Amino acid sequence: MVQSYRLGQVIQHCDHCRSPPRSLALNGGKVNIIAMIDPFGRSITYLRISVTDRCDFRCVYCMAEDMNFLPKSDLLSLEELERLASTFVRLGVRKLRLTGGEPLVRRGVIGLFNRLGLQLGQGLDELTLTTNGSQLTRFAEELAAAGVRRVNVSIDTLDVEKFVAITRWGRLPQVLEGVMAAKSAGLHVKINTVALKDVNEHEFDGMLAWCGEHGFDLCLIETMPLGEIDGDRMEQYLPLSVVRARLAQNWTLTPTAYATGGPARYYDVAETGTRLGFITPLTHNFCEGCNRVRLTCTGTLYMCLGQNDAADLRGVLRASDDDTALEDAIRAAIARKPRGHDFVIDRDHKQPALARHMSVTGG
Ligand code: SAM
Ligand code: SF4
Repeated sequence: MVQSYRLGQVIQHCDHCRSPPRSLALNGGKVNIIAMIDPFGRSITYLRISVTDRCDFRCVYCMAEDMNFLPKSDLLSLEELERLASTFVRLGVRKLRLTGGEPLVRRGVIGLFNRLGLQLGQGLDELTLTTNGSQLTRFAEELAAAGVRRVNVSIDTLDVEKFVAITRWGRLPQVLEGVMAAKSAGLHVKINTVALKDVNEHEFDGMLAWCGEHGFDLCLIETMPLGEIDGDRMEQYLPLSVVRARLAQNWTLTPTAYATGGPARYYDVAETGTRLGFITPLTHNFCEGCNRVRLTCTGTLYMCLGQNDAADLRGVLRASDDDTALEDAIRAAIARKPRGHDFVIDRDHKQPALARHMSVTGG
């Protein structure tokens, strides 16, 4: 038997499919289950939603310059995304992250934040986003008002020209202005930086110092082999074990148990009082503690960023206004969550491990 918990009650799960029953009659009353446990005993409490596959940047490791985006008619409406997210929250998800593509380029997305924000404290603990920062000057205050407390902003370099080289269409001053707007709005900022060999690998000391000055945490990420891009991924790949050893020569890094619900391993940085995280999908398998699933803007649920198996929730969602079938489909999908990803860089053929881009599944 696998067990989950609700308000101190232990709930037994089916021995065969390991998914919990949809509802239990306890003390004569109907009790909604608020935990989803996968076949490996991991509690699924975190949903990332890619609200659009579109973006105003074209980062070299993420997209080809000439991308074919989904026709708008394929996208779920904001109301449908809200209904799906709410269903997940009812089933035990406590943290929602909106991502993309660039989430803040989706028209009306603040309305979605506002409506999801109403669920904070009602089952939902945290509502957050990952953004390239280009629209933060415009939206930071509204995000804070919606209940967002933390934001991840992706910045791979603080060099203006290199920023253009990496993002192709991005402008660093605009992003930095957005980051400062987020800080002024009271949002806790974490900077996400993809470590790119020969590109930004000698900038991390400077970025850590800059983050320290502003009270931002910094999280370094290894490139993942997702989707066709224009260049050769092997040329970009930089193991973070190397980066950490280099940084440890200049900074006092102490491992900490701090966790944000994501896959990063964190260190306290004594000199700055901030944290430094490492996301190392290739050099260290981070799957054993995985609590996440990912929903695309077309309603496809990926149980793992690094696997192809997926569940179509759009069809179920549109088939009926009754959420029962939707809940069943989500539970059935969770019961198929794999143990871990299969990322390997194919050094000979230079193929991505998976054909879909990060902007589809949501980073
Ligand atoms: N547009 C937003 C942004 O850039 O923050 C949100 C979506 S983006 C896909 C989310 C994160 O994924 C970003 O931090 C980005 O740097 C990272 N990312 C994209 N492609 C990646 C890849 N192939 N390997 C590692 N990280 C990647
Ligand atoms: Fe856009 Fe984010 Fe991908 Fe860069 S990493 S192209 S900002 S989705």
